[in-house]
Amino acid sequence: MKVILAKKAGFCMGVRRAVETTLKTVQHSDGRIATYGPLIHNPQVLQLLDERGVDVLSEIPAQHNGTVIIRAHGVPPQDKERLESAGARVQDATCPRVMKVQAIIKKHKKEGRATVIIGDKNHAEVIGLMGYAAPAVHVVSSLADADELQLVGPYIIVSQTTQDEQSFQEYSARIMARFPQGKVFDTICDSTHKRQHEVRVLCQQVEAIVVVGGKSSANTQRLGEIATGMGRPVFMCENEADLDLAALGQFDVVGVTAGASTPTWMINRVIRQIEAVPGRQEGPFSRLIRRLVWFLLMTNIYVSGGGGLLAMAIAAICGGVPPLAAFTIAFGYLLAMHNINRFVGLNFQGASGRPARPKAGKRGYALEMHPGKINDPVQERFCRHFCRPILVLSGMTLVFSGALVWQLGSLPFVIFIAMSFFGSLYGSHIFPHSLQSLFKVKGLKEIPGSKTFLVALAWSLVVVILPCWPVLSERGGVLLVLGLLMLGVIYVRNALFDVFDVQGDKMVGKETLPVCIGERRTLQLLTRILLLLAGLTVAGIATPLPMAGLLFLPGIFLLWIFVSMYRKERIFPGLASTFMLETTLYILALSLGQGRLFF
Ligand code: SF4
Repeated sequence: MKVILAKKAGFCMGVRRAVETTLKTVQHSDGRIATYGPLIHNPQVLQLLDERGVDVLSEIPAQHNGTVIIRAHGVPPQDKERLESAGARVQDATCPRVMKVQAIIKKHKKEGRATVIIGDKNHAEVIGLMGYAAPAVHVVSSLADADELQLVGPYIIVSQTTQDEQSFQEYSARIMARFPQGKVFDTICDSTHKRQHEVRVLCQQVEAIVVVGGKSSANTQRLGEIATGMGRPVFMCENEADLDLAALGQFDVVGVTAGASTPTWMINRVIRQIEAVPGRQEGPFSRLIRRLVWFLLMTNIYVSGGGGLLAMAIAAICGGVPPLAAFTIAFGYLLAMHNINRFVGLNFQGASGRPARPKAGKRGYALEMHPGKINDPVQERFCRHFCRPILVLSGMTLVFSGALVWQLGSLPFVIFIAMSFFGSLYGSHIFPHSLQSLFKVKGLKEIPGSKTFLVALAWSLVVVILPCWPVLSERGGVLLVLGLLMLGVIYVRNALFDVFDVQGDKMVGKETLPVCIGERRTLQLLTRILLLLAGLTVAGIATPLPMAGLLFLPGIFLLWIFVSMYRKERIFPGLASTFMLETTLYILALSLGQGRLFF
């Protein structure tokens, strides 16, 4: 089934800021951490924060030792003062756009104006705004409220930031017609404007709309109302389990949007689930192909096959081991490492799949949570279910691969064993105590951004260097250039997958490159790396650098297109984009395969 994702779906700036503030506090503070009220209106995010040791205060206690985070919706100023008097270290994560509305109210209150808030009386943001405006404050939630309103003297009208635009215009016009001495401030935030506009446009391109978000999220509910008003069947869901797959199967093109408090990883999970639903017009052949692709991606056979073909092509160009041996060395190692790593991670969680509550520091606990459970639970469930056959297959391919490397000599075999050891135990606490206390990390996984680089390095060794070991001394220059290019290409591939999972990784405390430097800067860095790689290949024409590098150009170009399209929000994480990204390896292998004609 075809899915079109709204560009503005998911966390808005204010929610992202509040969640990141909380996660940073969790990481850097050892004391007790709580939010005053639920941080955002999303039960899955709240559950994860709970698992990371963040409590929720529903009332202000008489005494509080520790940090209290004020949520994105803001609170009445009196509550903030009471929290401080109770001894709490208050960290204000109120969204700057909500702060702006609070400032408008404060300013006009000083001038003696009353405040009319158009919004939901029980919404946390409106309760906070009422605290700034009290005592001369009125809340209008319906046309009836607007008609019953009685105002004397000057006043202002503001809006809840997530209010529906049409209702705001209608209610404020009605009030102004009766009491013209007011001033109207349209304080609906940009993000809401764009999200609501986008859902109207999306409705014209699709047959049905799926809205992802918390049941208590007002802006999520509003998106559903807008889509219903546009005459489209609407499926509201908090997560992928809520989807009515049978009903969705009646459509071929479905639009997906999400509320401002819905994390990207939840949207991705819903998209993956919808993509797996056969469309109305899908025949048995396309269904078979789709299932096959899904199986190959889930088991890592597809990506390892790409690696095997690359090794074959490079061995053929450089005169390394025979093609089948080159394929087996790379395929066997890559399949084993991709799968074993995943299972080592799964085992941290114990039988229930739910991590235990933290015992000592929260930081250590976070690293024990498995990101697959958040980012891709379908794959996680698949791995858990087929754990034994996949591990047996991976073990066998690793042995085959090792046996072939053994025949190349003792040094390549030692390198292979070291790669397998560090690859398998990447997620474990393998550093001795002296190193742990010196560098404050227990294993490779805890070194920020290490996975992206180390995986690329392993690919480079197993795809380029080991299959060409017999000619390493004669063709060292070519192999060095090809190895560097392979490292760069795989680094970009890995980092793109990390970008897809950035929000989920942040939640579990995984220190990937995009988590460390941000999504936007990672994409900029990847673009620069690709330009550098392209420059390196072209340099082969004018310098003594081996021309074989030129064969990397199509793969580099495809990755560049992928990064650019992702930056422009033309593609989004899902089965289709994962398949496209992995297919780049096959196209690169095809291009390198042509090298035999020239070298
Ligand atoms: Fe801030 Fe707008 Fe998000 Fe509300 S919807 S938290 S006002 S950015």
